Formats: sequence, structure tokens, C-alpha cells
Amino acid sequence: MNTLFRKKQPQFSDSHFDALVASVKDYQLTHGSILKIVRQEEFHTVQARLIGVSLVPNQFPRSLFERAVQLASIYNELYAKAACDETWLESNLGDFLRNDVFAAILWDIHLKSKRGRSGSTQRISLGIFRSDFMVHATGGQEPLSLKQVEFNTFSCAGATHANIAADMHRHMHSAGMYGDTFGDPARPPDRLPPNRGIKGLVDGLAAAHSAYMSTTGCSATAGVLFVVQPNNVNIADERPLEYALWARDPPVPAYRLVFDEQALQQVSLGPAGELLFNSDLPSHASREISVVYLRAGYDLEEYDESRKQARLLFEQSRAVKVPSVLSHITTMKKVQQLLSVPECLEHFLEPDKCAAIYSSFMPMYPLDESEQGKLGRNLAMDTESAGNYVLKPSLEGGGHNVYGKAIPAFLEGAPEEDWSNYILMEKIRSPTQQGLLMSFQGLYEGPVLSELGVVGTCVWRSCDGCEILENEQVGWTFKSKPESVEEMSVVKGYGCFDSPWLVDL
Ligand code: ADP
Ligand code: MG
Repeated sequence: MNTLFRKKQPQFSDSHFDALVASVKDYQLTHGSILKIVRQEEFHTVQARLIGVSLVPNQFPRSLFERAVQLASIYNELYAKAACDETWLESNLGDFLRNDVFAAILWDIHLKSKRGRSGSTQRISLGIFRSDFMVHATGGQEPLSLKQVEFNTFSCAGATHANIAADMHRHMHSAGMYGDTFGDPARPPDRLPPNRGIKGLVDGLAAAHSAYMSTTGCSATAGVLFVVQPNNVNIADERPLEYALWARDPPVPAYRLVFDEQALQQVSLGPAGELLFNSDLPSHASREISVVYLRAGYDLEEYDESRKQARLLFEQSRAVKVPSVLSHITTMKKVQQLLSVPECLEHFLEPDKCAAIYSSFMPMYPLDESEQGKLGRNLAMDTESAGNYVLKPSLEGGGHNVYGKAIPAFLEGAPEEDWSNYILMEKIRSPTQQGLLMSFQGLYEGPVLSELGVVGTCVWRSCDGCEILENEQVGWTFKSKPESVEEMSVVKGYGCFDSPWLVDL
């Protein structure tokens, strides 16, 4: 265990600890900090389990938290500009857009939607982005730094859970559960930052809705369409956003389309390119959609012919997309690696912004035939050096990475023509600290690693370039996991929602 994080965790007597566990469970249950158990759903009832949380917030350097928050608007701008620049994407992603099966599907949808485009095509897009960071410690004399794990432009989950967990930890502080660890319990804990992720996302969706309404002059019943996965365990992260849209004054209607084989039958295009949604509710038949918010469709398995058609229909319509297909493509790790090349970054941003972004990257390599690619291949195939790297395909949703010494054998077993679809990223050496996690996996007390995700929203108009209309940092996610586990999977019960305990080191 390193000694970077020196603050003492609160100490609990047995009865105090029991009271904390009971309070956390009740708070979670009563605030929807849960995962739905879909397999056991009955017609008349359903079960849920509590999502993993940290019983006590874990330390995070205040300066790096503030830095992450400052970077959000620059990252928003960068990824909005990349999504506007089809020429840059095509010339830099090159063969990847043909060879990577999923990228090829998305690129094909993009090309088809361009061909079928009418004058009513929507130029405004909303991005809901989350940039994930970890603290990096070299172990030498260099100061701690903030390094990006990945940048998500698609279906960024966790903002609602993180908001609830932050509220919960602040409540536990006020209720005296942590003594004076975070300051005087009679006062708000300035060492536990508030999180307004739910409001921020809803404001972003409402801004995109307003932009649509004002540019199309459409009927008042138009609303936001949440495109969601069937048998979704994570409704508690999505539904509160819908409820909050309906609760606005005036309400923003929020509709829900399950992205399964039947999805296509519920959507159609109107004469002016408007996206029309036929819900099962007679009162909501044929509603115009202002904003399509995709929380499904990030997995290759989801794209049979009918769902490719549905995605194409969304793209061709005049609805604002969250995200557009081009913005979706930018979530791929291949784009993150490309942006770590200084000339690529300079294509989009001014020098001072480039420097800020550049300092948050770990070294990344392609595994293609280029000079950098050959360097990457050598590092990846050598058992010694491979230990310092993570191999990543351009897939979402966790569980696809290959870590350290397992990389050479993995690549040997994969066809060489597929290697260029992967990127190689140096491991972030994050300092551990003693943590206390609780999930359906059980109670865990031991060394933990934490990851900070900064959530941003960005509204832009693609014209000749990219005109940014709104650019906000709206919240954050903070998750901790046992050090011994590679994946931050919340669904598997390893990653636990947490709050950063801001410390001055
Ligand atoms: P995804 O979430 O799309 O599966 P990530 O890039 O976020 O892919 O990787 C998954 C997890 O692997 C991260 O949450 C983090 O715990 C770990 N990880 C990824 N990249 C690194 C890295 N460079 N150094 C250390 N851990 C990493
Ligand atoms: Mg991730």
C-alpha cells in the first residue's frame, strides 16, 4: 500500500458500522440506487438489488479533480469538432472504417444517410460525453498527474447513480456517520463536492429539444425518444432523466423505444423528414421526435438488418441525435489514440488547449503497419514490455480489454489483419488506498482503485466547420473497485459508486 493518501479513514465501532451499513442500504433502496433483476421479472412485480457503493468516500487530489473539471469544456469542443469533420475521420481512420466490423456498419449507415439526405437534414447535434480519468503516479519525483482512461460519446451511463451516491455520502456526513472526517457535520462537507449530473443531463436534453422546436416550429407534443435496451438492468440510471423531463415547466415529453427486432415498426419518417414514433399508447400515437437519445445500440450484437434500418432512419430524420453516427464513431478507442498524435490534436484546437489535453494522455500506439504501429507491435509482443500495457479493441461496455502479460498470447491467437483494430495503451499507475466497498459481491475491505468520469454536454451545429452552441460540464461519476480486479464493472458488482474525498496532498 502506498502512502500518498494520508488522511485517516473514520474508525467504526461494531455498532456504528452496523448502523452505517443499515443506513446506506435504506438510502439506496429509497432513492433508486439499484439494478433491476430482469430475469425474475413477473407480470405483477419485479425484484432489484442494490448497486455497489463505497461505504466511505475515497481520497482524490483536489487539484486533479479541479483539473478534470476544467478539461471538460475543451474535451467537449474537441469531440464535437471531430464529429463534424467527416473528411478528417475518413482520411485518418482509413482502413479501420472498413476492417472493423462495427465501425464498418456505422460508416455504412453514415454514407447511406448522406445519400438519402433531404434539405431538412438536422445540423444540430447534442453530445453527452464522459471522460474517464485515473490518478497516475510514476513513483519517482514527478508530481501526480491526471490521465485519461477513455472518452465516451455514446450512451454514457452512471450519471444518475453517481448523483445519488454523492447525495448519499453527503447525507451520511450530515447524519454524523463519518464523525468530523469531512468537516463539521452541521455544515455541508466542502471535501465532498456536490454532483448535479441528473439536472445537467436533463438540461442538456431540454436545450437540444428547444433548439429543435425553435428551428422547426413543430407541434408542442414533440418529445425526446429514449432508445433503450430490452431487458435493461439499468433502468434506475435512465428513468429519472425521463421523469425530470416530464416534470419541467412546460413539460418535455419523453418517450421510450425498446431497441429490439420490432423497433423499426414503431418509427417512420414524415414528409418533412420528421421522425415519427408510434408508441403502444393510443394517446401517444404518431408523436414527432425532437431528440433521439441512444442508450442502446453500442454493441455489434444489436445490429441485425432491421436495427440497422432503424438507426439509418434516426440518422436521416430531422431529429437531433445524441449522438449522431459520426459522433458515435469518435467514441472508438482508435480515435482516442489518433488524437494523442500532436498533429491530429492541432488540427482541432489552439496550442494552449492542445497542451492541456495532451498532458492528460497516456502513451498510445496503433498496431498497424505504420512506424508507430511497428513500435506498438514490438511492445505488445514482448512479454516483458507487454506487462506495462493494456490492449483495447474499439468496443464498448467493458470486458473486452486484454491486460499486461496476457497480450502476446492473445495477439498470437488473433489473425494479424485484425491487429490494426486494436490500440495499445500504457498502464496508468494509480495509487491505491484502503477502502470499504459494499455490493452484492459482499463487503470488501482492502486496497481500492478509483476512476473519475467527468460528464459534459455539448450542443453544436455542423456547417462548414463546427459551431459550438452550448458547452457545459454537468457532473461526474466516481467509481472504486478492489485493486485486484481489472474491470470497473458495476453490473458484476466490482465497480462501486463513490464520492471523491478531495484532499490537498
Ligand atoms: P470500456 O469501459 O469501454 O470497456 P476502458 O478503456 O474504460 O474500456 O477500460 C475498462 C477498464 O480497464 C477501466 O475502467 C480501467 O479500470 C481499466 N483500464 C483501462 N485502461 C487502462 C490503463 N491504461 N491503465 C490502467 N487501467 C486501465
Ligand atoms: Mg470504460
